[in-house]
Amino acid sequence: MSKKTNIFWFRRDLRLDDNLGFYEALSGAHQVLPIFIFDTEILERLPKDDARVTFIHQTLQNMRQTLQDEHDSSIAIFHGKPEVIFEQLLEDYEIETVYTNHDYEPYAKERDTKIKTFLEKHSIEFKTFKDQVIFEKNEVVKKDGNPYLVYTPYMRTWKEKFQTIALEIYYTNSYLNNLIAHSRLPNLSLSDIGFEKSNQEIKDYEVTPTLIQDYEATRNFPAKDSTSRLGPHLRFGTVSIRKMVKKAIAEQNEIFWQELIWREFFMAILWHFPQTVDNAFKPKYDRIEWRNNEDEFKKWCDGQTGYPLVDAGMRQLNETGFMHNRVRMLVGSFLCKHLLIDWRWGEAYFAEKLHDYDMASNVGNWQWVAGCGVDAAPYFRIFNPTTQIQKFDKNHDYIKEWVPEYQELTYPQPMVDHKMARERCLETYKTALA
Ligand code: FAD
Repeated sequence: MSKKTNIFWFRRDLRLDDNLGFYEALSGAHQVLPIFIFDTEILERLPKDDARVTFIHQTLQNMRQTLQDEHDSSIAIFHGKPEVIFEQLLEDYEIETVYTNHDYEPYAKERDTKIKTFLEKHSIEFKTFKDQVIFEKNEVVKKDGNPYLVYTPYMRTWKEKFQTIALEIYYTNSYLNNLIAHSRLPNLSLSDIGFEKSNQEIKDYEVTPTLIQDYEATRNFPAKDSTSRLGPHLRFGTVSIRKMVKKAIAEQNEIFWQELIWREFFMAILWHFPQTVDNAFKPKYDRIEWRNNEDEFKKWCDGQTGYPLVDAGMRQLNETGFMHNRVRMLVGSFLCKHLLIDWRWGEAYFAEKLHDYDMASNVGNWQWVAGCGVDAAPYFRIFNPTTQIQKFDKNHDYIKEWVPEYQELTYPQPMVDHKMARERCLETYKTALA
């Protein structure tokens, strides 16, 4: 047995600075053992060359290197079920407290409850902190205590509340010497956890004053590629939301800031309504008789619908793990409304492919496009895949990049007639909601 030790458990917060739970662990009275667990329950659902696993693994290696070079420490990396790993840690260390940051997804909540119970049986405290959002859970609710179901009033209250707090940044540098010495801390290669290096790379993010100032004018044009690419970095915590919000409000343009608030809105919705992962927020919409044609779904997945902007989006997703937001809305609407395929099929496909996949944002946005979610687009608003080109890709720059053959004979005819599909959708929704 070594001396008394506190553990910091990294999860969706893969950074050494401005990480609240890590900061709290380092400010405690004992040496700190930082750990990361490649959770087998999560990994078993992913393809073996998953780009997100490669990214997490590489990020951890970089963090380990920094800690070794500058602080003679490291991060212990494990592979298995968290409860089994904690049992093992209990044998090797005299653990006082386990620190970690909140995770709001249903699986994570259940896992954390189990770990808390297990640790408490051994008289070990499980301390958790808010780190991946500015406001969580019940912090932004209506005056009567109920959650907001509409974004705009949520956003206004979020901003009002924000005026009342002092947004702190948690600098850890001067505490890193409280970390345990690095000798014997286990490491794992990608193949040790049953994975291989992905061919896709997660792009770095860009949040410059110019990007924020131009955001409102450029964000809707997919060919401009002018959005921040913050998604995966917020998802895995390689960037701090506090620092990003500070940057956003330093500029005069509020639109970018409001996008960050959309993220928190959907996180709050998932926390209050975890059933929406599988069920329409508006239950009546679960009466819709989806056509769910598998051949049509495959054409959509492969970017072979014969509608060039839809196909460009799906091919961008398949090849790079990213799709521009404007095109996400179009392909989502096309799947649910033109093809009458259940939004859950599209949600699952995005979950597998998107580098920035985040359950709250993905489910929230899919329900938004299908019309069945909180503050959703009205069901009778159906994107026209042809006029969307005139509005957002007038010179076909984005289409040419992803569907270069779009004017050739080899390119398929539209798989469904827009007018017919629109009427079929309206009829189907109307019948279900009657
Ligand atoms: P930017 O435009 O630079 O925005 C900055 C950040 O604000 C984003 O990284 C994100 O954290 C947040 N944000 C922006 N728009 C939204 C939004 N509509 N909802 C929630 N947060 C937002 N976003 C995800 O992070 N994960 C998902 O799994 C996801 N699935 C989506 C599915 C569909 C059908 C649709 C229509 C949208 C989805 N989005 C999702 C929202 C949005 O498309 C992405 O956040 C954005 O395109 C990511 O690119 P960016 O980081 O360059 O964003």
